[in-house]
Amino acid sequence: MSTSRILVVGAGFSGAVIARELAVALGVKVLVIDEREHVAGNCHTERDPQYGIMLHKYGAHIFHTSREDVWNYVRRYSEFGPYVHRVRASTKRGIFSLPINLFTINDFFGKQFSPEEAQAFIATLGDATIGEPQNFEEQALKFIGRELYDTFFYGYTKKQWGCEPRDLSASLLKRLPVRFNYDDTYFSDRFQGIPLDGYTAIIERLLADANIEVKLNTRWHSGMGDEFDHVIFTGPIDCYYNYRFGRLGYRTMFWDRSYHEGDFQGNSVINYPGADVPFTRIVEHKHFTPWEKHDHTAVFTEYSKETGEADIPYYPKRLAPDKVLLGKYLDLARQETNVSFLGRLATYRYLDMHQVVGEAFDFAPLLAGAISEKKARPVFPAGAT
Ligand code: UDP
Repeated sequence: MSTSRILVVGAGFSGAVIARELAVALGVKVLVIDEREHVAGNCHTERDPQYGIMLHKYGAHIFHTSREDVWNYVRRYSEFGPYVHRVRASTKRGIFSLPINLFTINDFFGKQFSPEEAQAFIATLGDATIGEPQNFEEQALKFIGRELYDTFFYGYTKKQWGCEPRDLSASLLKRLPVRFNYDDTYFSDRFQGIPLDGYTAIIERLLADANIEVKLNTRWHSGMGDEFDHVIFTGPIDCYYNYRFGRLGYRTMFWDRSYHEGDFQGNSVINYPGADVPFTRIVEHKHFTPWEKHDHTAVFTEYSKETGEADIPYYPKRLAPDKVLLGKYLDLARQETNVSFLGRLATYRYLDMHQVVGEAFDFAPLLAGAISEKKARPVFPAGAT
């Protein structure tokens, strides 16, 4: 019999923040379980055993946010190095700066446009027949036209998501701005950085509390929550319900690793949007920590594929059939009285780390209040369904 009153399933950012906040607010014991052998989920980092380079084992993670409270919160658990993310795209026509900015436009079309001229020019390329874009492809064609879309987005998106871009949501493309100035930074947020000793160290510090117990290599099974006052589930929502309506679609990633001397590509991330190249991007990890010096370099070539039963789910696809399935799982979840669903997998949304931290941080006082007053409990954070 556990002495803990709260069970948190999953030791990623969602699980760690909610565990910490509830343990502190309520002063009760919290048990955190995770099926992997390490904490931090997909933002887990570890130093390469031979060369000491900090590796983002499950793909590139850059912390960026415009919420000052979230930025201050994560910096309570780690010092952040001054990293600013910049991406290049390697195409048949050359190497260009991403997201599309004035440098990309002038370079790509061989022009010397001013911001205003570039804006007017790009407007002539857009497909004016498209009203409200209904999908990713229409969103792109309406605003940047066929040539830029085919070069930078069509092939990458098809490889990344394993489907036609017209089957994906228009909101996906909205993650990437088009800028008519020379700002070539990938994210538009106010704050950005990489933790000096990696993300796993942050999660370990969040979980380092006398009221928190962590059990790794421990898989969730139904019935496990019976002896707890409350369960916070951060795993896949379809897994919680034993996939009874079927599995939600996810893309998973895999990498070819190689090691080299010196500098391999001169940047942390170079995208390969061409449909004829089998991978999506090449990640060179030592560029995430420009304040460190390494003579060697670790390079991960990134591929995407459909998630099989034994694979780790990364990107929620959210195709039309997934949304129908999700609706059924959400209906079940809404009826729960002592379970809450938190984070990317449990709410089946494409969330970045800062959003996950912000949601857990905002949700914690509501949940703590409800648990201590034994009131009806919030099942999802605001905006999750
Ligand atoms: N994307 C693209 N070409 C690129 C980069 C992004 O078509 O060179 C599209 C693609 O569909 C991708 C989405 O924009 O999934 C979001 O890109 P982001 O860089 O935010 O993806 P993440 O880094 O989270 O994988």
